Amino acid sequence: MALNIGFSQNFDLTTNLYETYDNYKESSLNKRRIKHNELQPLLTKHGVNNAFIVKKVGESIEGRALNLISIGSGKTNVLLWSQMHGDEPTATQAIFDILNFLASDDFKEEKKQILENLTIHFLPMLNPDGAERFQRRNLLGVDINRDAVRLQSPESKTLKYVRDSLNADFGFNLHDQSTYYNAERTEKPATISYLAPAFNYEKDISEKRGNAMRIIVFMNKIIQKYAPGQVGRYNDDFEPRAFGDNIQKWGTSTILIESGGYGNDVEKKEIRKLNYVSILAAIYTIARENYKTIAIEEYEKIPENDRKLFDLKIVKATYPLMGQDYVLDLGINRVEVDKKGNNDFWYSSRIIDQGDLSTYYGYEKLNAEGFTIRQGKIHPNILTNTRELKDLNSFDLLKQGYTYVRVTNIPVGMLESPISLNMLGSTYELPDLQLKVGINPTFILEKDGKPHYAVINGFLIDLFSGKSDFKNAMIYR
Ligand SMILES: [Zn+2]
Repeated sequence: MALNIGFSQNFDLTTNLYETYDNYKESSLNKRRIKHNELQPLLTKHGVNNAFIVKKVGESIEGRALNLISIGSGKTNVLLWSQMHGDEPTATQAIFDILNFLASDDFKEEKKQILENLTIHFLPMLNPDGAERFQRRNLLGVDINRDAVRLQSPESKTLKYVRDSLNADFGFNLHDQSTYYNAERTEKPATISYLAPAFNYEKDISEKRGNAMRIIVFMNKIIQKYAPGQVGRYNDDFEPRAFGDNIQKWGTSTILIESGGYGNDVEKKEIRKLNYVSILAAIYTIARENYKTIAIEEYEKIPENDRKLFDLKIVKATYPLMGQDYVLDLGINRVEVDKKGNNDFWYSSRIIDQGDLSTYYGYEKLNAEGFTIRQGKIHPNILTNTRELKDLNSFDLLKQGYTYVRVTNIPVGMLESPISLNMLGSTYELPDLQLKVGINPTFILEKDGKPHYAVINGFLIDLFSGKSDFKNAMIYR
């Protein structure tokens, strides 16, 4: 009974948190490629609030400050750290949403309970040098999450020092994972994945680790409400060099949260919101200690993570090769390529797998049974420069089976074709289409000799309805 009461009260809060989220969302952080300098005005803003203590606790290799933001007066210490991998920013953004929530005058009763029982410490963007380059590793080229014992990176030393000096009771280890993870044997993306890391090879469950499992069971129930079936559980093999495993070993109940993928959410805004809601609800349940009645067995029932998703899965297309027809499934991913400065990106898509892909899934799917894959044609008119692109009706050209246009003068710095035709330089020799893993997926799908779909740089375009999520095509000089 106690369990049910605890859950329902927490769920009321959760619903309110979800519905009022926009009031607290930190609007200055509005895309994934965030940088250290964008966080500084926010730290200054919270630093002048007496409720918060903002303290510099270390520096990255390039000298960027690592700051700890603390709030509350309770005896239970909760430590949250994010983005030890520079290209994993979702939880950093959610932390600043949570800080706005804590700084507000709303939810007074709940916040009183939280701040009287807990002292909460946030260490956002642990790897700012990596974030600057939108890369996983730090400037030393090491994975900070394999440096928990050797402690060669200043960022690793800072995390260890902060954990030890607080002797934190609870730790939230906040990451992003590939969007291609799914909940095992389902087509649902693992929008959030959890792990209560093991602290030894035997994977023993101590009281501390058990409490991490209980909190995860609690958070899973919340996510299920907003993203049903979209939670995965990480394999708990012990990794003796990782921070999560060691922090668990050092006596902090440690919860790993990985933000994965969610359909049509390239900038992970919904996932960030789910982080905000579920982390705040978890903090509330830690403050009230009503997680203690949750059964650990529920943890094992969360489906495991798998990695079987593609951005686009095309099923049973007919593929003619040397006079024979074959049936192929294609698994296509849209790979992000960063622009200079790592503030933005374009797409260079790839065929990741082909053949019988019946055990795989796609964010977007096309049943291509009865459709034949054909190489797209090069438009006979050669353009002098890219300004002439705007005079082309690329949709009409796709319907006629053209997927390429030749342009004599393509500007040197131009990375992507803005229209739904790949651009070719005047002397570029287009190879015959031969489908294989690693190539850029550009072709026409036709039926009875008539183009029905175009795939341009991995983007599917329906040539009858015009429906497409097309972003950019390729340039071959
Ligand atoms: Zn990570």
